[in-house]
Amino acid sequence: MMLESYQPATGEVVGKYPVFDEAAVQATVEAARQAATKWAAKGFNGRKEHLKAWKHLLVRRIDELAKLMQEETGKPLDDARLECVVAIDHLGWATKNAEKVLGPRRVPSGLIGIDFAAAVEYQPIGVVGVIGPWNYPVLTPMGSIGYALAAGNAVVFKPSEYSTGVGVWLVDTFAEVSEEPVLQVVTGYAETGAALCKANVGKISFTGSTATAKKVMAACAETLTPVLIEAGGKDAAIVAADADLDKAADAVAFGAFGNAGQTCVGIERAYVEASVYDAFVDKVSELAGRITAGVEIGPITMPSQVPVIQRHIEDALARGGRAVVGGVGSVRAPYVEPVVLVGVPEDSEAVQEETFGPTLTITKVDDLDEAVAKANGSRYGLGSAVFSRSRRTAYQVARRLRSGMTSINSVQSFAVIPSLPFGGTGDSGFGRIHGPDGLKEFTRPKAIARRRFTAPVTTLSFSRTPKDIAKTLKTLSFLHGRR
Ligand code: NAD
Repeated sequence: MMLESYQPATGEVVGKYPVFDEAAVQATVEAARQAATKWAAKGFNGRKEHLKAWKHLLVRRIDELAKLMQEETGKPLDDARLECVVAIDHLGWATKNAEKVLGPRRVPSGLIGIDFAAAVEYQPIGVVGVIGPWNYPVLTPMGSIGYALAAGNAVVFKPSEYSTGVGVWLVDTFAEVSEEPVLQVVTGYAETGAALCKANVGKISFTGSTATAKKVMAACAETLTPVLIEAGGKDAAIVAADADLDKAADAVAFGAFGNAGQTCVGIERAYVEASVYDAFVDKVSELAGRITAGVEIGPITMPSQVPVIQRHIEDALARGGRAVVGGVGSVRAPYVEPVVLVGVPEDSEAVQEETFGPTLTITKVDDLDEAVAKANGSRYGLGSAVFSRSRRTAYQVARRLRSGMTSINSVQSFAVIPSLPFGGTGDSGFGRIHGPDGLKEFTRPKAIARRRFTAPVTTLSFSRTPKDIAKTLKTLSFLHGRR
């Protein structure tokens, strides 16, 4: 059986790929194990050469990659280019900072351990299995692949069945800069991903839906394989009365409708203070009305998502909500035009479930406390946004939002800053890609304590005396016994 990859707008087949079964996945992971040892032995500087060469190649061939992304996902070419820009910047950051973040360093040994020198370093895990989604087929996997490679691991990548060609392209281009199979691909459907979870890799980095994340974690539990979970979201934007409304509306419209809403950190809910609510709804509606599906936004890539989007709109309307832009008629598979919903009850599907389409609910709130409470009333906790002219207010709200990341006066900006960790809480998952935390995710900390001299007090020996213990207790009183 072959996997057929197709253009979502036309259904035209654009590529055929083998479906890796359990044995093929296992063989790939074995090859990766060999490569991992050699890759780790190259050290930070040796790896840097290859990673830099890959980065340069990606910059040179960005249009080739962007066209492939457009073909398989349907997203506009400039969206694809921008995604590549951010992904390449992440690869550059991981390459440049890996040694600084992970390399050996001395740490204080403290008074109790004064006779020791203490050092910590972050060693590669070996083989990392990366299971990716299709919605950001380059940026999302690169958050794991780039960081895992820079940390010294080999990677086996299972791209989404909807963006297999992009995944294969990334791996093929890496092969141009490295003779060893340090980055490999296993193509296929859910079963191939499941086989990777069972293949005894050092860690699985999964990005996809919460429902699949639970299956991945259950499968990994069998072999105690650690997992990093980047799952779904239901991001909220909070608009304070003092916000620059034009800028807030512009950002929220982009956050909600960009990539046809198929963004894990897409804005799906907005909570707006009463005094600016009407004006904000008007401004967002105006912007939404100008977006044409097929021009500014592409089709819904995954056909099975179309009925979900439709159901959420229908549920919102049936339960008293009102569409101020679009409505059920906006769903014309494979396209969905922007839909703006107001007055939607908080317990409806459109507010509680991940819609993953170009829809937005806007809800009036009395104050920012109510906005925070409603924004936090979700089982998801990925990203969020807050709009206010007051820096103090914005930071206060940002800190109270139960999400892994918050943008102030923008949307999704945290994803393009390589030094910031990316990830969520609750049903959005755990663990982090990007930044120093993202590098450390793909390592195991190694602690080394070296005896420097024979201490005047003996403790870790049977030759110790009651006097030694008395002296140690005295040291304890000195260190921790005073208030
Ligand atoms: P999905 O869960 O359907 O599939 C994700 C990947 O898992 C695919 O490669 C798929 O083949 C594989 N898979 C499916 N079943 C599997 C199994 N039993 N074992 C192992 N692998 C299996 O998700 P999707 O539709 O590709 O992606 C959309 C979802 O991803 C949305 O929920 C979105 O919010 C989320 N997402 C999250 C982030 C993030 O960083 N948090 C980023 C992008 C997308």
